[in-house]
Amino acid sequence: MATKAPEFQATALEAIPKIASLARGQFRTHKTKNVEWRKTQLRKLYWALEDFKPQLVEALKSDLGKSSFEALLTEVDWVKKDCMWMLDHLDSFVKDQKLGSPDVPATYSIMNFRVKKEPLGTVLIIGPYNYPIQLLLCPLVGAIAAGCTAVLKPSELTPACAMWTKELIEKRLDSGSFSVVNGAIPETNALMAEKWDKIFFTGSAQVGSIIAQKAAQTLTPVVLELGGKNPAFITKNCGNLALAARRLLWGKTQNAGQVCMSQNYVLIDKDLVPTFIEFLKVAYKDMFPNGAKASPDLSRIVNKRHFHRIKKMLDDTQGKIVMGGELDESELYIEPTAVLVNSVNDSMMQEESFGPIFSIYPVNTLDEALNIANLIHKTPLSLFTFGNKAENNRILNEMTSGGATINDGFFHGAVNTVPFGGVGDSGWGAYRGKASFDSFTHFRTIAETPGWAEKLIRVRYMPYDFKALAF
Ligand code: NAD
Repeated sequence: MATKAPEFQATALEAIPKIASLARGQFRTHKTKNVEWRKTQLRKLYWALEDFKPQLVEALKSDLGKSSFEALLTEVDWVKKDCMWMLDHLDSFVKDQKLGSPDVPATYSIMNFRVKKEPLGTVLIIGPYNYPIQLLLCPLVGAIAAGCTAVLKPSELTPACAMWTKELIEKRLDSGSFSVVNGAIPETNALMAEKWDKIFFTGSAQVGSIIAQKAAQTLTPVVLELGGKNPAFITKNCGNLALAARRLLWGKTQNAGQVCMSQNYVLIDKDLVPTFIEFLKVAYKDMFPNGAKASPDLSRIVNKRHFHRIKKMLDDTQGKIVMGGELDESELYIEPTAVLVNSVNDSMMQEESFGPIFSIYPVNTLDEALNIANLIHKTPLSLFTFGNKAENNRILNEMTSGGATINDGFFHGAVNTVPFGGVGDSGWGAYRGKASFDSFTHFRTIAETPGWAEKLIRVRYMPYDFKALAF
């Protein structure tokens, strides 16, 4: 039986330095270097998620109107799978990597060059609201696996999830090594005043920039997982337009489109537009036979501020709503909506929608589509191509993005073990799978010079003797 989440309570500001110092102290005990200790923490996290499953599912419902199906698939079970995968592979990840040819020339092979995988230290993980469990705890899986201690800062916009996360982490994982600080800007600022060995931030580009600037003052490395204005390209040679419509609509119905990597706009050959819109409507009808509002599967917008942000994009558009368009503030409900636009300056093209709405922009050629996409955002988090093989390759070649999916919505980000990250201003660094371990690991090169090798390397000592180079 799920119980209601404890009432949201921000962590006292004066407690934050102590929490950080405790986590640093725990790291200095060196216990996290023990791989068995890390595995125990991963198992504890797995079982905590299993035991708190009903509470988390209910919290995701109350914070975001998330269905149990999505709550399990994309949040609770997702992180559990991460724990299992990491447990299966950790022994091989932690092994020293012996360096040989071509990294080490034959002349130096006697020196036993190797790379030792060391934990970075004590890290801060700051999460966003849209996947409050997954996007906070997956980086934690990487941090634990690498042997770091960590302090987590969940989003205050999803208070029930934040409170349960604090409970499950602090009750179940090693005390003091892993803590949760709840709160908003003042609490994050207090955390940023502490010294960390890495900061892992997921959220908006605007806040990411603040975090990166503050981190730069202490030369603290950061991973930034940010957002972007992600394009989808549909060319004349798109093989199956009905499938493209269904798959792109999927990208906007998951978590009510509050997904960093879903498409913001669709650049489509102008002759295909009427049929594409018809196929979107068919897909909509299949997914929501009684209308989206009646569906138990569609999430709600996280709060009024974001509801009004998305509503404003629809209010300001000069385009035409061709699918959806219903809003109900009392339920924070926004219908999956497509808007046909004809200007790159349209509100629907200029901002990241981060909601169940997207625009359709007709183009004459692929050249035009690529020009527009590169103009709107040169380094989006993701892009999607629906063309023939040559066109798909051309799009991937002429426009970069954090990740990309050919012939689908955001599938490159839907598998928990493949690397995920942005590029340029959509993010720095990657995680998931082995990349999560790497992200919190220092790859320390070690050389060992045997005493007996002295006669082989004596050339380095002064006075230099050019003749000795001939050995
Ligand atoms: P946000 O940037 O508003 O908040 C993220 C975190 O930063 C929260 O914990 C919040 O409390 C904290 N924060 C907010 N303002 C702050 C400030 N001024 N100083 C210090 N900390 C502050 O992001 P959000 O609204 O929670 O999430 C939506 C954004 O995140 C979208 O842009 C989306 O694209 C992006 N996102 C990216 C990814 C990814 O993996 N690349 C995943 C999810 C969301």
